[in-house]
Amino acid sequence: MDTIRLEVVTAERVVFSDDVDVVVAPGIEGQLGILPHHAPLMTMLQPGELVVRKGGEEQDIAVSGGFLEVRPDRVIVLADAAERAEEIDEARAEAAMRRAQEKLKERAPGIQTAEAEAELRRALIRLQVAKRRKKGKSPYTQQTG
Ligand code: ATP
Repeated sequence: MDTIRLEVVTAERVVFSDDVDVVVAPGIEGQLGILPHHAPLMTMLQPGELVVRKGGEEQDIAVSGGFLEVRPDRVIVLADAAERAEEIDEARAEAAMRRAQEKLKERAPGIQTAEAEAELRRALIRLQVAKRRKKGKSPYTQQTG
């Protein structure tokens, strides 16, 4: 089976680099599924979950937004921040979630509210990715019934 190279990088480090079967990314216009030989493409990413499938195994990566480029030989994700599921510190994400919720309760208008909403979203995504890893399932392989 053909594979495609995926590289997920931030300004600080390489988060993921491997040949994979499928990438599902949180594009700003919705989920984007990328298989080998996908047409070249550039898009912004929203904060969300990047799902990588390789040989029947799935790996989840939390991304806080960024940019995705499909080139003929690879997919490059330039993320603001990104963590593989096993790297996520759940206690830290829970603390970040509570801080953001407190800020939102204060209902300070304008930029501060938007910032707190973004912080809350990042924290919830990290918690979701970390918890899904523990359960061993992702929405793309989940069996029903
Ligand atoms: P916090 O308030 O806990 O710093 P944040 O959402 O403000 O959370 P970011 O600015 O998105 O954090 O990220 C800063 C750096 O910390 C990035 O390198 C990111 O990968 C890392 N990071 C943030 N939260 C976690 C976490 N819960 N587990 C592991 N790494 C994290």
